[in-house]
Amino acid sequence: MGMGSKIHQNTHSTATPVVTDAASDCPRRAERHPAASAATSPGITDAFKFSQCDFSIAYYPRLFVTLGVMKSQPSSLVDTFDRRIRYLRLSVTDRCDFRCQYCMTEEMRFLPRKAVLSAEEIIRLATLFVDLGVQKIRLTGGEPLVRPDIVDIVQGLSNIEGLNELVMTTNGSQLPTLARPLVDAGVSRINVSLDTLCDSQFAELSRTGDLSKVLAGLDAAIDAGFERIRLNTVLLTGKNDTQIEPLIDYALDKGIDIAFIEEMPMGHITQTNRELSLVPSAQVLETIRRRFNLVPIVGSSTDGPARRYSVEGTSTEVGVISPITDNFCDACNRLRITPDGRLVLCLGHENSLDLRQMLRSDMDSSSLKRAIVAALAYKPERHVFDQPDEPQVVRLMNATGG
Ligand code: SAM
Ligand code: SF4
Repeated sequence: MGMGSKIHQNTHSTATPVVTDAASDCPRRAERHPAASAATSPGITDAFKFSQCDFSIAYYPRLFVTLGVMKSQPSSLVDTFDRRIRYLRLSVTDRCDFRCQYCMTEEMRFLPRKAVLSAEEIIRLATLFVDLGVQKIRLTGGEPLVRPDIVDIVQGLSNIEGLNELVMTTNGSQLPTLARPLVDAGVSRINVSLDTLCDSQFAELSRTGDLSKVLAGLDAAIDAGFERIRLNTVLLTGKNDTQIEPLIDYALDKGIDIAFIEEMPMGHITQTNRELSLVPSAQVLETIRRRFNLVPIVGSSTDGPARRYSVEGTSTEVGVISPITDNFCDACNRLRITPDGRLVLCLGHENSLDLRQMLRSDMDSSSLKRAIVAALAYKPERHVFDQPDEPQVVRLMNATGG
């Protein structure tokens, strides 16, 4: 094990009674699925220090050697494992009006505003990636809708020729006012994070969020006419793992989709024990199948890692995203850009390339594209969230863009 990290195996009992939140009657703990203890579920302890290799420092010399010998025009984005990149997740801010327990710590220090890419820089970078073959961009954060110029950014991106899909992930709190402007500016589909329908659980999990605003935001999104709306739900054992059925019923009632995401060990958080909190996708599917017939859906080349099903007899799709119990890296088709302009090659590794520095040093577009293509040589084969002996990631999710 490297870098001073310690990974714990779950040694706790699998017998977990249903516990009810006295203040609210929200049930808090579902029956524990055997896979929860069988799966390797890494955690990160206080001993973890930011000491992992940073691509921008350690690999620059190699990158520029590579650039030096690349005389031809940059070609499209295919990595050394023959994975073609068509999907870019663009994080426009690390700031957020919530402090979700699995994503952030209670006290956060955010990037200085000067460090964050401007709207123009974001649009320029996105244009380069589309030139290189990206077809789909997801705007994310932090919370993308706390950025005052977000509608201008959307407008600028939707004017890029060759971009087929512009989508967004949001916590939904600003959708009551922004849903319609986002549709008008060109966002076709939206994912809204919703972990519970119980007020007190929501307040506890998000720390600063208000469930009624998110539900109002979802109604506004439905009225605004996005092509599809999907709920994103992260389940944590003993906190909101009884919410599978209420959330499915809500999605069915509203005619929208839902995806359940296994919690990933991103960064050092204080509130949850990551090694104890995993709710495996198998448990989620088992719970849903008790009431509904799920029909598998075959995806397109820009789809994400979700295994998708339609709920028979309805328009609702259910997805499960299983980074811990079912590695999907062989089909990875994505890159990420952080709010401060680092190109992150894999969510589960610290490697990154500082594109902001290149943008701000007036590098021309051909050289920028060559740098991006060359960086692909460093895209790792897979993340190691499921391998407790490997070093884990110290960036919090909001610093990368989930
Ligand atoms: N603020 C927006 C939101 O919450 O939808 C967008 C950014 S958020 C980082 C994107 C997604 O990442 C959310 O659906 C959130 O639930 C998920 N997420 C955050 N931390 C996570 C973690 N440690 N493991 C798995 N998913 C996580
Ligand atoms: Fe904010 Fe999204 Fe992270 Fe929650 S998951 S703290 S809403 S960035």
